[in-house]
Amino acid sequence: MTQVNSTKSLTDRFGRTVDYIRISVTDRCDFRCVYCMAEEMKFLPHAQVLTLEELEQVAAAFVSLGVNKIRLTGGEPLVRRGVIKLIKAIGKMDAELAITTNGSQLEGMAGELKQAGVNRLNVSIDSLQAERFKEMTRIGKLPKVIAGIDAAIAAGFDRIKLNAVIMKGRNDDEVLDLVNFARHKGIDLSFIEEMPLGHISEHNRAEAYCSSDEVRQLIEQKYALQPTTEKTAGPSRYYRMPESESRIGFISPHSHNFCGDCNRVRVTVEGRLLLCLGNEHSVDLRAVLRRYPGDMEKLRQTIIDAMDLKPEKHEFNLEDEPQIVRFMNMTGG
Ligand code: SAM
Ligand code: SF4
Repeated sequence: MTQVNSTKSLTDRFGRTVDYIRISVTDRCDFRCVYCMAEEMKFLPHAQVLTLEELEQVAAAFVSLGVNKIRLTGGEPLVRRGVIKLIKAIGKMDAELAITTNGSQLEGMAGELKQAGVNRLNVSIDSLQAERFKEMTRIGKLPKVIAGIDAAIAAGFDRIKLNAVIMKGRNDDEVLDLVNFARHKGIDLSFIEEMPLGHISEHNRAEAYCSSDEVRQLIEQKYALQPTTEKTAGPSRYYRMPESESRIGFISPHSHNFCGDCNRVRVTVEGRLLLCLGNEHSVDLRAVLRRYPGDMEKLRQTIIDAMDLKPEKHEFNLEDEPQIVRFMNMTGG
């Protein structure tokens, strides 16, 4: 395991402490969700991708700087070869470990992930209709994902949350079905507003946009939603429903800007430290890792200096061409 001394914490120019990182461990995926990727995608050559050892060093450097929550994402993190080795190494660090997954590999991996030290899982599921699920993911098989969710529940993670991106005319008629599914399984569910990341010619984001308020109104036709002050490290605003342990969350980058209390940064699989999901400000950690192999102090100092670049807020605009040209699979959700 990578050893470093802990001395500093990470604070940006606006007084926000960064204690949460999301690391993308691959840009590849076994799905092609319509809002996330184009049908034909070109993935990174291996030489540009951080090795598992480099990813571990990055995680260790952040933990030594006070980060106490790490989320592994992608692309689909569970399709990266050797990912369990990385997860075991990060699982031993002094930080909560979470993974965001499309669930395709969970049926076979849930127990192993729990043993490796994963505390929380987010599983993305946008439809409970097999045909539609296949259309929206272009590839995915719904029964496999549901079997994965059941395996995760059986494995006993601290918390499991479903994520659903709701799009007008595509799956907005399934909001209550998704809520009922989460209630039945006794797990949480967050609804995400689609973000304009990357240009996808066959998908009109402005037309598909469905605000969190619209989703909330659909739910309230059946269940009263009580706002809670509960927070996780992420941007969800949570509500509780009567007679259920499940929480309903809303991630609303358009309608409720969450930048004011942003505590997160992201590292892409190319080792680009992204200071904001909705801006291009970044620092090349791969260059430091490869120019000064094993020099943890250099890496730590680069990360500390990068905090000065964290912008105040994101600038998303659905009507114009996306200002952010990278796709979500590059960014890490
Ligand atoms: N493959 C994994 C998955 O699907 O959960 C992890 C990576 S994925 C990029 C992480 C999350 O980002 C998913 O919940 C996905 O639905 C969401 N996502 C992808 N593209 C998005 C976009 N343009 N706007 C909002 N959410 C998006
Ligand atoms: Fe893959 Fe996740 Fe993007 Fe869907 S949202 S294409 S599962 S990375």
